[in-house]
Amino acid sequence: MGRVQNKVALITGGAMGIGRACAERLAAEGAIVVITDVVDATGMATAEAISAAGGDATYLNHDVTSEAAWQAIIKQVRELHGRLDILVNNAGIAIRASIFEMSLQDFHRQNSVNLDGVFLGLKHAIPFMAEDGGGSVINLSSVAGLKASPGLSAYAMTKGGVRLLSKSVAKECAALGNGVRVNSVHPGIIATAIWNKMDAVGDQGENQVDVDAIAAMAVPGGLLGQADDIARGVVYLASDESRYVNASELVIDYGLSA
Ligand code: NAD
Repeated sequence: MGRVQNKVALITGGAMGIGRACAERLAAEGAIVVITDVVDATGMATAEAISAAGGDATYLNHDVTSEAAWQAIIKQVRELHGRLDILVNNAGIAIRASIFEMSLQDFHRQNSVNLDGVFLGLKHAIPFMAEDGGGSVINLSSVAGLKASPGLSAYAMTKGGVRLLSKSVAKECAALGNGVRVNSVHPGIIATAIWNKMDAVGDQGENQVDVDAIAAMAVPGGLLGQADDIARGVVYLASDESRYVNASELVIDYGLSA
């Protein structure tokens, strides 16, 4: 019996990185997972790998910035599985630029994935989750949602927003008595592709950011985190083991923000 046995889980941005690790862990603990993303080939390969390992996984195309896409996804999950117990609002982008160099277009693009995406997920998934007694929503914030991140100021703004959006909606749900818990997770420096994609100025260069060097500099002991370190925390919040954990923030950063 897995820790989230037979629960239906939706993971946005689940094709790679932290989202993929969450999908793998949740499936290994018995969940029926629906992975969504905008990179279809990678997303399908992830779902196939989970199925090959004995899990139950489906991939669906889903741009989290689109309200129509959210409505379509909820409809598809209803048709596929009839219920939703776990939502991991994981899809996110990071654009590294000084505020003085960042275009308004990039500012809006980052907000639309990191904030609109989470807002729409909460708005459209929670009523569906509540129909069957409730569930658990886990929103990916960051240590950048807890402390200043010079050079990533606009990103930090989105992650601070995710933190308080999570807490406030958690209390709305508790007041409604709908059985849905909402918590945020705050990763530190985790080895994923996000670090290679974050340059707004320059040519989206490979290895523009050296994640090993950043971890060596910023993390106590220099320890770089792995996506699975975050997935293990997400499984705890998704499971009934955390039934009394609500409107809370789980920091997984090896002391970076302490
Ligand atoms: P990643 O780039 O490896 O994966 C992000 C995924 O989101 C990708 O598969 C991407 O295709 C998808 N995505 C992007 N835009 C999307 C959209 N509009 N709709 C649907 N999917 C979309 O990044 P990651 O490191 O795994 O990050 C996952 C989450 O964790 C993000 O919210 C990120 O901000 C957060 N986070 C990461 C770190 C870290 O060090 N890696 C630290 C703190 C927080």
